[in-house]
Amino acid sequence: MISVEEALERILAKITALGIVEVPLVTAQGLVLAQDIVAHDSIPPFANSAMDGFALRSQDSHSRNGQPAHLRVTGSVAAGYVADHPIEEGTAMRIMTGAPVPPGADAVIQIELTQYDGPESSWVELQQEVAQGNNIRPAGEDMQAGQVVIQRGTEIGPWEIGILATLGYAVVSVIRRPRVAILATGDEIIDIHEPLSPGKIRNSNSYMLEAMVRRTGIEATRLGVAQDTVESLRAKFREAMTYDLILTSGGVSVGDFDLVKDIMTEQGNINFWRINMRPGKPVAFGSIGNIPLLGLPGNPVSSAVTFELFGYPILRKMQGHTRLLKPQVNVVVEDGVPDQVMRRHYVRAHVEWRDDHFVARTTGNQGSNIMTSLLQANAFLIVPEGGTIVKAGDTVKAMMLDWPEG
Ligand code: AMP
Ligand code: MG
Repeated sequence: MISVEEALERILAKITALGIVEVPLVTAQGLVLAQDIVAHDSIPPFANSAMDGFALRSQDSHSRNGQPAHLRVTGSVAAGYVADHPIEEGTAMRIMTGAPVPPGADAVIQIELTQYDGPESSWVELQQEVAQGNNIRPAGEDMQAGQVVIQRGTEIGPWEIGILATLGYAVVSVIRRPRVAILATGDEIIDIHEPLSPGKIRNSNSYMLEAMVRRTGIEATRLGVAQDTVESLRAKFREAMTYDLILTSGGVSVGDFDLVKDIMTEQGNINFWRINMRPGKPVAFGSIGNIPLLGLPGNPVSSAVTFELFGYPILRKMQGHTRLLKPQVNVVVEDGVPDQVMRRHYVRAHVEWRDDHFVARTTGNQGSNIMTSLLQANAFLIVPEGGTIVKAGDTVKAMMLDWPEG
């Protein structure tokens, strides 16, 4: 049996980032850039006004003999248009926010600091002097043409999308999303539309895993349920060969019908199949052909916990991310952990911020078949191996499930 850390290390050593594709910007959120983003234009592309006001020559704004400057207004320039004549000595032009500064002007005075005679006024009086450059956003203030603005390897979020749109990148090169196949195993497993009959249970794992994959922005395909026969598993694995990752549940412990391991040996390899943790000891990792296979335990809670610990970082690494793991924080366990176990124990808990620190409450019966222990859980408490006792008020590390990776 290997430790959680060793398992993760062995898994990640076999996973590499997938290939590069071009995608429309609108579908690029969450993906990793496969190209440096160079500004082909300076941004802003032209000097423009930061305010609604009047464009003028700053030296014309000085008061004379105690009298405020009084300028002749020769026209106006709105956003989206350019002035058809320059600013000359003693003149000003009405200007709107975002409009190009007319030639000759070197400052804008905001409208609130002027007196004038309505929208068509032929004059303006300034209540203040303005310095050169006042309220002017120079060309290239934000980005310079030729500059690398976003580096390859960056995850595309809303800020990046805003910049890419500004620079006219309607299509971007990214690392493609993995395609994930999900396979349930077991003669006892029926689909969710079917009524229960003696000995049968419904397939919760495939649907839960699909939802967990989708939460990361990746599509998953359910391949149904393989029976506990070598033939049925072989047929399902043939179908799975076009995917980037195969997730199975069940069939990897030591029972006579746990055949996933046999097929991995026959058609690929087994890197390991047991981890020193609870829940989720029977986790197999290896391949079918060249395709990585993560064999999760059948018990639903084990399946959920081991997907978060091992499946999630696989998907992150395939997408070219460098930060792969969910963050951990110290939490005070309000109610303590009822069981003492020798393996590394991942305890479902609800964590919240209260009075300057994080507090956790466990979510009840921690059996690996107790799906209701997942409800309310937004974290796993990490209880070290060796029979560590966690009493009420003790502090432990918690892995935060709904936080972005740290
Ligand atoms: P196994 O690892 O195949 O021995 O399965 C361990 C436990 O998980 C058994 O009680 C199975 O019935 C249950 N189980 C396996 N697959 C599923 C599934 N897809 N949905 C719900 N429970 C499952
Ligand atoms: Mg089974």
